[in-house]
Amino acid sequence: MPAPDDRYSRQTRFTPIGPAGQQRLAQARVLILGCGALGSAVAEQLCRAGVGHLRLVDRDLVESSNLQRQTLYTEDDADRALPKVIAAAARLRSINAACIIEPIVRDVGPAEIAGLLTGCDLAIDGADNFALRHLLNDACCRSGLPWIYGACVGAYGISLPILPGDGPCLRCLQDQLPAAGDGPTCDTAGIIAPAVHLVAAWQVAEALKLLVGDRARVRRELWASDLWAGTFRRLGLVGARDPACASCGPSPSYPALNAPPDPAITLCGRDAVQVAPSAAVRLDALAQRIGTAVILANDHLVRWRDGALTGTCFRDGRVIVHGVTDPVRARAFRDRWMG
Ligand SMILES: [Zn+2]
Repeated sequence: MPAPDDRYSRQTRFTPIGPAGQQRLAQARVLILGCGALGSAVAEQLCRAGVGHLRLVDRDLVESSNLQRQTLYTEDDADRALPKVIAAAARLRSINAACIIEPIVRDVGPAEIAGLLTGCDLAIDGADNFALRHLLNDACCRSGLPWIYGACVGAYGISLPILPGDGPCLRCLQDQLPAAGDGPTCDTAGIIAPAVHLVAAWQVAEALKLLVGDRARVRRELWASDLWAGTFRRLGLVGARDPACASCGPSPSYPALNAPPDPAITLCGRDAVQVAPSAAVRLDALAQRIGTAVILANDHLVRWRDGALTGTCFRDGRVIVHGVTDPVRARAFRDRWMG
């Protein structure tokens, strides 16, 4: 292991960070919401940069189809169906033991988001859907915390730092961004790894500026690029703030924070439905109850098969039912097996 004063030498030699900036990074705490392609790429860069505390939140498991672009994960993680944040935490701790990694396996709704932001200096968007981004946007507008939007699909990537009260928020811009459920997804249109790493680089650069206190240099433009077509677009946002915005305006109603929770949601492009938890579950007892239908059980989940359907139950009681897109059928399956 290199001497501690050598580890960040190439970064502290970079004048805008310097030794003082490095110290600020060591004291920083960042929420990474979603730990798929973007979230895991961002987490690795921030961990290597010496950010002191990373809180990783994701609801999903590592699958073999992730490995082409989600660089923290291995075949072994997929074989063991580890939750992404658990696999990410193990890998990140082996990269930088001084970085505190806080993995949280959870589906995030209005009740959870504020608690996840507590103590953080900023949040990074690694979400795969606009509902979650709007939740993050509302919570950050309410608390005044900056967050950094990022998304990619195909060879295309887009990113924007959002500084509540200082420039437009996500809701101010919603007419210029794809609406929830409207756009292509990585499952329908595919995704190439360089698009992920381009956006992760954009996000991490702005995060570093904010964390070392160089807010004046934070980008005030939306950037979008298509790596295959070779296009790069910069959209200036002066005057783009909506003076009556329901998230960042003078009398906000925070629509996403006040939306009723959805008991069952169809997972984007996945032939699967997630049923919200009713209560935490003792996994060992559940595995015993389900008996011979169980195909996988570990500390984090129990998975079982029933004909064409597969259920995966997490410790918080959340169930993902694969093989259906109808929430009613998914809930019926959950109730049939779990009561
Ligand atoms: Zn706004």
